Amino acid sequence: MFLTISTRGDAAHPATDLGYLLHKHPDKAQKFSTSYGTAHVFYPEADDLRCTAALLLEIDPVALVRRGKGKGRGGAPDAALAQYVNDRPYAASSLLAVALSAVFSSALRGMCTARPERAAAPLPLRIEVPALPARGGADLVRRLFEPLGWSVSADPVALDTAFPQWGDSRYVRLVLESRALTLAEALRHLYVLLPVLDDAKHYWVSSDEVDKLLRAGEGWLPGHPEQKLITTRYLSRRWSLTRQAMERLELVRLAEADDSEVEEIDNAVEEETEAEEKPTPLAVRRREAIVAALHAAGAARVLDLGCGQGQLVQELLKDVRFTEVAGVDVSVRALTIASRRLKLDRMGERQAARVKLFQGSLAYTDNRLKGYDAAVLSEVIEHLDLPRLPALEYAVFGHARPRTVLVTTPNVEYNVRWESLPAGHVRHGDHRFEWTREEFRTWAATVGERHGYDVEFVPVGPDDPEVGPPTQMAVFHRGDTEKEAKAA
Ligand code: SAH
Repeated sequence: MFLTISTRGDAAHPATDLGYLLHKHPDKAQKFSTSYGTAHVFYPEADDLRCTAALLLEIDPVALVRRGKGKGRGGAPDAALAQYVNDRPYAASSLLAVALSAVFSSALRGMCTARPERAAAPLPLRIEVPALPARGGADLVRRLFEPLGWSVSADPVALDTAFPQWGDSRYVRLVLESRALTLAEALRHLYVLLPVLDDAKHYWVSSDEVDKLLRAGEGWLPGHPEQKLITTRYLSRRWSLTRQAMERLELVRLAEADDSEVEEIDNAVEEETEAEEKPTPLAVRRREAIVAALHAAGAARVLDLGCGQGQLVQELLKDVRFTEVAGVDVSVRALTIASRRLKLDRMGERQAARVKLFQGSLAYTDNRLKGYDAAVLSEVIEHLDLPRLPALEYAVFGHARPRTVLVTTPNVEYNVRWESLPAGHVRHGDHRFEWTREEFRTWAATVGERHGYDVEFVPVGPDDPEVGPPTQMAVFHRGDTEKEAKAA
């Protein structure tokens, strides 16, 4: 299974920037071993004008079968021989999509601390998949990719070139070209549409496949003319529970293996804290303010939403008044680092019973978030695109509905006080917005009103008479609805 991603560059924008965007160095060939084979990333060409990254997935069909059976539940096994002799090793398929999302996970999310402006901008892109199983043929391939801004060439591959009379196979050679898409968009299209075209029936679907589809389809799947077909096919792949568990484990393992990426995240986080910590240890003050507000609210079971690398979770666990602490983040890598920080694997049973880390996106309602006393969103909202904020608002205040919610976010007015911060810049490359005190208050008041919470504002850090504090915190409290109902 093979896929190449190429771009062109010029003097101002060298094509080799692709290496930064993919978080994989063009001079290195890298190998990631997965439980169903080996994924290789290398660059057949890399100079200022042209750069091509290749992802080659070497499938071990025996391992694939063994894995699939090991812990398998449900799902009749294929005919014995077909398990070993099939197209999986050669054709692009859902396994390639899984590898793509694991090996290029930051790129898929559009994250690039080294070249944020390049990650956010459309690139000239050419993507080639020499053997793509396409149920529905070249015509369907076009119907899927063209509405997304790709110019598509899909040539049927002959069953056997020596016997043209046998006709075409169900494979096409796919070439996609566009100048209108970002790399993250391109990767998310492939992540969803490769398995849709493959339409293999080996899998079983569970509810979080739906989440994955929605996440990867954000911004392009709603309104796609083939939305129904895409959704139906994507979800009717019968992902076995085993396969799914495997995929998750794979992501964590790959993240661990790819230390360069972890380091990069570490550095990014350090940069953020550094910029903030020079005048005053702001991250520490923030955690103190959060702990104080949680105590004041009498919260014992606490959710840390967007927990990142787990510093707050660690702090809360030191305090016996917090009987249960759950950290949630969308980033598997952040969770991996958090779990190492907390030494989850070496924790005693009683301590371990108090803490939970799980992956989830705050842009979707999630029943696992229900039943807690309080939720903390520390420096998280500014990481969401503004149009996604109402979704988070609903998931937290409308659906999870803890009695107390703490939200902290930078006060952009204070930015003029950071010596190291160039004028007009946000504090961190991944901040999608930073608000004035007025903007934050307006948002918080509207949210409170809409969902039945009172809101108070607490400054965190030195409260500058002119520009206010560096961090602003909103403390939301929900009245006791039962009491209210009785009183009424
Ligand atoms: N709360 C931590 C980390 C803040 S950085 C602290 O105060 O230091 C923001 C975190 O939010 C990152 O770890 C990022 O992965 C996470 N995040 C961003 N968007 C998210 C989403 N939609 N769902 C869950 N987590 C998200």
